[in-house]
Amino acid sequence: MTYDFDLFVIGAGSGGVRAANRSAMAGARVAIAEESRVGGTCVIRGCVPKKLMMYGSQYADHFEDAAGYGWAHENVRFDWPTMRDNIQNELERLTGLYKKGLDGNGVTLFNARAIIKDPHTIHLVGENRDVTADKILIAVGGRPSRDHEADPDGLGITSEDLFHLDELPKSMIIAGGGYIAIEFAHIFQRLGTDVTLVYRGERLLKTFDRDISERVEKDLVRAGVRYINQTIFARISEEDGQKAVELMNGEVLKADQVLWAIGRNPHTEGLGANLIGVELDRHGAVKVNEYQQTNIENIFALGDVTNRVNLTPVAIREGMAFASTQFKGQPKTMSYEHIPMAVFSQPPVATVGPSEDECLTSGHDIDVYETDFRPMHAVLPGSEERMFMKLIVDRESDRVLACHMVGSDGPEMIQLVAVALKAGLTKAQFDETCAIHPTAAEELVTLANKRAGKA
Ligand code: FAD
Repeated sequence: MTYDFDLFVIGAGSGGVRAANRSAMAGARVAIAEESRVGGTCVIRGCVPKKLMMYGSQYADHFEDAAGYGWAHENVRFDWPTMRDNIQNELERLTGLYKKGLDGNGVTLFNARAIIKDPHTIHLVGENRDVTADKILIAVGGRPSRDHEADPDGLGITSEDLFHLDELPKSMIIAGGGYIAIEFAHIFQRLGTDVTLVYRGERLLKTFDRDISERVEKDLVRAGVRYINQTIFARISEEDGQKAVELMNGEVLKADQVLWAIGRNPHTEGLGANLIGVELDRHGAVKVNEYQQTNIENIFALGDVTNRVNLTPVAIREGMAFASTQFKGQPKTMSYEHIPMAVFSQPPVATVGPSEDECLTSGHDIDVYETDFRPMHAVLPGSEERMFMKLIVDRESDRVLACHMVGSDGPEMIQLVAVALKAGLTKAQFDETCAIHPTAAEELVTLANKRAGKA
């Protein structure tokens, strides 16, 4: 039996594009379908526009701090349409580069929604035709969730809508306590929106180290965000052109915009995967083995749709491992250990390795080295900004198990700390490394304040 393609990839996001390119480079005849814009969540409605917006919002602090360095400035104002449109133009450029890359590798692109009809047949919606492939790769990512009971009329928006707002909202209520909620709370508060963050849990970033959560909460409040926890939205309604949110605790809040940032669901609804017997978990995520293979031999899945570690570099590495295994004859799996992560709060969080609680519950006898100081750039402006760093060290082997930070440039530092942790370096080796002065990073190789790990 010959098929139209060796590989059909559904979804041209971070994972799908990388898998398609690498498979084509290995000699496979590859097609990819994308129902929206090529580049996926990261490029079109995630990491990239979010980080550009974060840069835009940081000017609020820069202008405030500038006076401490002798700068005088007047009539500073922010124009939302300028930033919004400049970001969209940049995304257009990036999507063009992605398309060019696919084209250069000989990948056939279908601008259509794809539905799986049988294990070798894909239907292209709108084009009204079927194509066949030896292997199918599901890389459809995820979509933001909403609470439809509290918001039956869809009055709340999601992160997908934020980048297209006609005007900067004067006020915004955000539901959620994960990284997306926190990042947008900081961004919009700095742009001039009055932000309230409502979170059902006890501590923000609940899967992160406790010391990080505490500092993130303090920084949010310091930025002027009103933070309400341990309650959720009961109902959203419209009142006098504003959105009124009734909380479960009885309080009623009003704002121009309400943002749902309560998590993301795998985008498998209507894909047809379950209808042909592909096993999904109860959240709709595709179940795969370590080679990204589903229970149907020639169907694979990777990235956010598998709901393992939902980050761009993870989807990309899974895509590379898939292509290597299936088309280069070099089986590869993805290692989920030592994945560095950043939260672009202001200041940002940067972390690699388990939390202190996780180290203790996994039976490690640990020492914790930490420091909390005012970063040098904050001194002259008299800003209250702090920098926190923490190394968790296994007492027996002296290996550094984890590093957690909150502070400017943390995400730039943690990438290289991750290399050191991956290499299994010890605290003694960190200490033997010469510092760079004056930097915040030098603290990482001079940490001396030690305490025993505590639950
Ligand atoms: P996606 O990039 O979501 O791509 C899936 C693609 O499939 C989409 O383009 C979709 O349109 C398409 N598609 C879906 N169904 C079909 C179909 N049936 N037919 C055709 N096409 C289809 N990660 C980080 O590492 N760092 C960050 O700072 C970061 N920030 C983020 C901020 C936000 C606001 C969001 C929402 C996410 C962020 N992420 C970040 C997560 C990151 O974007 C995802 O982990 C990553 O994009 C997952 O890649 P993927 O290939 O699995 O799926």
